[in-house]
Amino acid sequence: MTHLLDKKELCFGCSACHDACPVGAICMAADSEGFAYPVIDQTLCTDCGACLKVCPAQVVSGTDLAGGTGAVGQVKAYALRCNDTELLKASTSGGAFSVLAQPVLESGGLVAGAAFDDNFQVKHLLADSIESFRKSKYVQSDASGIYKAVKSALGDGRKVLFSGTPCQCHALLQLLGTQPDSLTVVSLVCRGVQSPGLWKAYTEHLSKNEALSAYCFRDKRVQNDAHTVSYTAGGKEYAAAMNKDPFSILYTKCLTLRPSCYTCPYTRPDLPFDITIGDFWGVEKVLPQFADGRGTSLVLVRTARGKELLEKAVQNATAVEVPLEAATQTALRTTVPKSMLRKFFFKQFADLIQKGEDPIPFLLSKYGAT
Ligand SMILES: Cc1cc2nc3c(=O)[nH]c(=O)nc-3n(C[C@H](O)[C@H](O)[C@H](O)COP(=O)(O)OP(=O)(O)OC[C@H]3O[C@@H](n4cnc5c(N)ncnc54)[C@H](O)[C@@H]3O)c2cc1C
Repeated sequence: MTHLLDKKELCFGCSACHDACPVGAICMAADSEGFAYPVIDQTLCTDCGACLKVCPAQVVSGTDLAGGTGAVGQVKAYALRCNDTELLKASTSGGAFSVLAQPVLESGGLVAGAAFDDNFQVKHLLADSIESFRKSKYVQSDASGIYKAVKSALGDGRKVLFSGTPCQCHALLQLLGTQPDSLTVVSLVCRGVQSPGLWKAYTEHLSKNEALSAYCFRDKRVQNDAHTVSYTAGGKEYAAAMNKDPFSILYTKCLTLRPSCYTCPYTRPDLPFDITIGDFWGVEKVLPQFADGRGTSLVLVRTARGKELLEKAVQNATAVEVPLEAATQTALRTTVPKSMLRKFFFKQFADLIQKGEDPIPFLLSKYGAT
């Protein structure tokens, strides 16, 4: 068994190679940090090269993404908030995802997004409803199988809205080769994804005495732009400001991200996707009327397909066009810095897991303080 890429830090873990392999020779296996990487079974591999052909890391070396698989037109930026108060509460920022997905569902289409499974692990799914996709899960989703599922749905004549991190969106376009009119690609602004293995250990820790029944990385009970984390275990509810919650602090400190996130080539506004959505950080400087802590989406539209979908979405939302510079937050300009403590953090994580111990109490007490 050998790894697909010589340089692990280049691999986005998108799973496109897994879906592209015609003989099922590639599995995604977690390393000691808990991130999934492709592993090839050489007894099955026919050296056809399909895996390398679809790999987004092979075609983006920080050079010309705009010349990739999709046409990048002029980028238009909007502040958007859905009109439905309950929907706004159920969404991370301004509910852009839901109002964009709704017209696709209403026309009989399907939506791909990231949902929790029964054990709170994050998995990409294709569905005809979107409730489980709402709310950001700041962990790398398992996308294996999703590209094949989307390709098959498109082949059956279904409309699809695919939402995901930029590397997942790029993986899909690579696998399809060309983007059909029936597919709309919506990428997230993304500062990086955390280790699924670490998240698994954390959810097991929370479930140790009493089962975890809910987890929200961006709770909106307080009007603080969803800067609250909450969970319920054994019927008891926990809620804390993100800057006081030890697990959220690990993310804020850039300790727990996938290695490739620190050199991510997608931290730019001119990506080959129809639409990009995120939090509109800094909206108070441009549109003070949105600065009430209830959340506002940033929406970047690049293609005619994206424009058409936004026009339908604004029937259920308020959107105001803003200058692109006003909307270009740090995550659209540059990558996050790698914490110097990251290697010690994951060494200790791996050692404790190997010993069969719960790594969470030690890691949170050592690294999860402000
Ligand atoms: C890992 C991660 C990092 C992010 N970093 C930033 C950032 O730095 N700056 C910023 O402005 N916005 C960031 N976002 C986006 C932001 O948190 C919201 O997801 C976005 O504003 C959409 O919110 P909404 O109100 O439209 O809808 P919601 O209904 O909350 O939308 C959720 C959307 O996120 C998708 N999603 C949820 N979890 C994942 C996941 N693990 N992997 C892939 N897709 C997922 C769902 O499929 C759905 O499309 C990030 C999101 C994620 C998942």
